[in-house]
Amino acid sequence: HPRVGVLALQGDVREHVRVLEHLGADATLVRRPEELARVDGLVLPGGESSVIDKLARIFELREPLVAAIASGLPVYGTCAGLILLADRIADGIDGQQTLGGLDVLVRRNAFGSQVDSFETDLDVPLLGSPDVHAVFIRAPLVEEVGSAVEPIARLADGRIVAVRQGNLLGTSFHPEVTGEHRFHRHFLSLVKAA
Ligand code: GLN
Repeated sequence: HPRVGVLALQGDVREHVRVLEHLGADATLVRRPEELARVDGLVLPGGESSVIDKLARIFELREPLVAAIASGLPVYGTCAGLILLADRIADGIDGQQTLGGLDVLVRRNAFGSQVDSFETDLDVPLLGSPDVHAVFIRAPLVEEVGSAVEPIARLADGRIVAVRQGNLLGTSFHPEVTGEHRFHRHFLSLVKAA
């Protein structure tokens, strides 16, 4: 059983733990550098990226996280977690920093206050059929991608809402809240291969 951590500083930690355990992974909460050192993969949950950024610094996890990502640890970020994985951020608040790793520009809260939450079905060729029923909650968009980044899901208008780059996976939406397990299953395959 791969041991997969969920960064447990803030956000929808429990929902990710439930999906990972359902898929047979040994899910464990990560709040300290020693806990991070013991995992084979890590999930960055949805929540509020600026808060997770602040707490990561307070808990002295920021540098170990950056180092773990740089050394190839498989990491899956949903929503706020995708923001944390992005090298570049637009519309961050309070001087927030990301951990980086994905060669992308993400725009935080890209759908604005008018439509801050919505659901839609996405065709994700990587996962086959059926379509993914995706829930977006004050979600980010991926606005620019570097050449090593593979967009894996787009809205009907072409805007990018999921990406993969090496051992990193990010989605603007929240599979962990809809019973959609295929992203986590794909992530576990990256963890097993690493
Ligand atoms: N808007 C949040 C942020 O900036 C993300 C929302 C979410 O994770 N559902 O981090």
